Amino acid sequence: MSLTLFQTPHHVQIYFYTLCLKYILDNAFFECSESAGVWLPPSGGFDVAVPSLIDIKSIDINLLSSPLDLFIFRRLPLLLAQCRDQVQWHFNPLCKTCKFAPSCEKNTVEAGRLGVIPNLSGGDVQVLKYLLHLGRRRLKQSSEPLTEIEELHTLVETHGLLKKISSSGSSTVRKARRLLAIPRQKHIASVSTSPVVEAAVSKAIQVCVYLMDVNFCSE
Ligand code: SF4
Repeated sequence: MSLTLFQTPHHVQIYFYTLCLKYILDNAFFECSESAGVWLPPSGGFDVAVPSLIDIKSIDINLLSSPLDLFIFRRLPLLLAQCRDQVQWHFNPLCKTCKFAPSCEKNTVEAGRLGVIPNLSGGDVQVLKYLLHLGRRRLKQSSEPLTEIEELHTLVETHGLLKKISSSGSSTVRKARRLLAIPRQKHIASVSTSPVVEAAVSKAIQVCVYLMDVNFCSE
């Protein structure tokens, strides 16, 4: 694996290998250790440092079993049983090493999905999708079907809409403001704008002039 930090994909991989070894190997000759590890390349790579046992990062297998049993034996089979168009996916920075990245990136750009905004995690996308859901109940439906980015653009630019949604007690607007770099209402005289959404719609670099003195955390 090319990852240089001990990350979730390593956890899944070593737990899966451990399960495979348990099933394959004869119990009389194999006893599973309580921990498993990954040998990561030293910072700077093997060109500048010799391999060292210090670079082996270990984890207690018991800590992995409860979340990963749920994932491997419950969630994964359900995901694999889904039709291709039902699978929820999001193009994000972690896709870099995936062999499908070029086609997912193309699809994301062509379909105007939220993944055109750089550096959004899966959790961030859920926040923005929920914001779109809340906005749909208040916005007039467009005669043309809109992409996710166009819909987000309309929602952000509609005067007073974010304020209305946030007054219903939802914390989604606060989180979305932070993700989209939208300043608090009192810092601007006109309608809300998001340099992040503008950049995604116009495909041009936008300058965020508010970042130095704005608190994004409250309405
Ligand atoms: S590039 Fe596509 S298939 Fe690969 S991890 Fe990302 S979304 Fe999934």
